[in-house]
Amino acid sequence: MSVDESGEIQLLIMMNAAAPDDQVEEVLGLLSENGSYGRVAPGHESIVIGAFGDREVLKGLQLGEREGVESVLPISKPYKLVSSESAPGRTVIQTRGRRVGGDHFALIAGPCTVESREQTLTTARVVESAGASMLRGGAFKPRTSPYSFQGLGVEGLEILQEAREDTGLPLATELMDARHVEAVVDAADVIQIGARNMQNFLLLSEVGKTDKPVLLKRGPSASIEELLMAAEYILKEGNPRVILCERGIKTFERSTRFTLDIAAVPVLQEETHLPVIVDPSHAAGRRELVPALARAAVAAGADGIIVEAHPEPERALCDAPQQIPTQRFGDFADEIRGLVEVMGKSIG
Ligand code: PEP
Ligand code: MN
Repeated sequence: MSVDESGEIQLLIMMNAAAPDDQVEEVLGLLSENGSYGRVAPGHESIVIGAFGDREVLKGLQLGEREGVESVLPISKPYKLVSSESAPGRTVIQTRGRRVGGDHFALIAGPCTVESREQTLTTARVVESAGASMLRGGAFKPRTSPYSFQGLGVEGLEILQEAREDTGLPLATELMDARHVEAVVDAADVIQIGARNMQNFLLLSEVGKTDKPVLLKRGPSASIEELLMAAEYILKEGNPRVILCERGIKTFERSTRFTLDIAAVPVLQEETHLPVIVDPSHAAGRRELVPALARAAVAAGADGIIVEAHPEPERALCDAPQQIPTQRFGDFADEIRGLVEVMGKSIG
């Protein structure tokens, strides 16, 4: 029987922790004999098989009765692999010994943009000694105006790698275009897909083929479901390590750069097993508001925050009004750490 491999996932088949390989093979064989197919989902302690094909045919196979099968879960949401229905618990993502998700809160900080070696290294050292768990910084920058500074590109990636070596912090940096996949994937520990590229489906598929965690930012006009569907593109290609980021959406409000949709944090955590972090810097657009939005994120149960800092923010080439001066970062981090502990979590 022919199999349409583009079909949607319909069921999750949870095998017993002790199920031997031949029972798993038997289930996979049964699926393919009936015009369906199964894929073993990565990243689970016991084996989970995603079953694709016709829902009625799958129902008829009575998979729950098969040897070694613990339970069968129908998937009802349009997003499948990212759905909280598809995982037994919350996903914890690890890179260079730092974790995000579950009890692990990520404090990601650094400049908006790499402007120079000195500015980047100074910022990286300050945020590291204040207890940040990851360094951020853009080498390729998405700018509204084509006349604005576009980032240092590959030279910026080299500076960021030096800052990582210097501080030991894992590095998150943005990938804007498929032409830069190799350079960015080689340099980064976490590949950032920016808000403007959230629905660049070809780019999402590309990062889905890599083995680096992806930090996927919500588009300013994207619904929560659209964000989850974007993440689904990445997981579908085989990369299960995605961190979602709420960074503010467009509304009629003009007193902040964007409107931080704080409810997105608990809604996403209900819908998905993936970690959910918040970017208070781009949401606020003003540094005075960043600590309050960051505190709100921790209190709402976010798995981390990503914050911009600069040694001389008023002279920054990008996002000058919203970057926290590095001189104030230590106090900011102490306050966040206190709240993170209240929430029963720890940084990193
Ligand atoms: C950034 O993180 O510097 C950035 C450009 O963010 P966003 O994609 O959320 O606008
Ligand atoms: Mn920025």
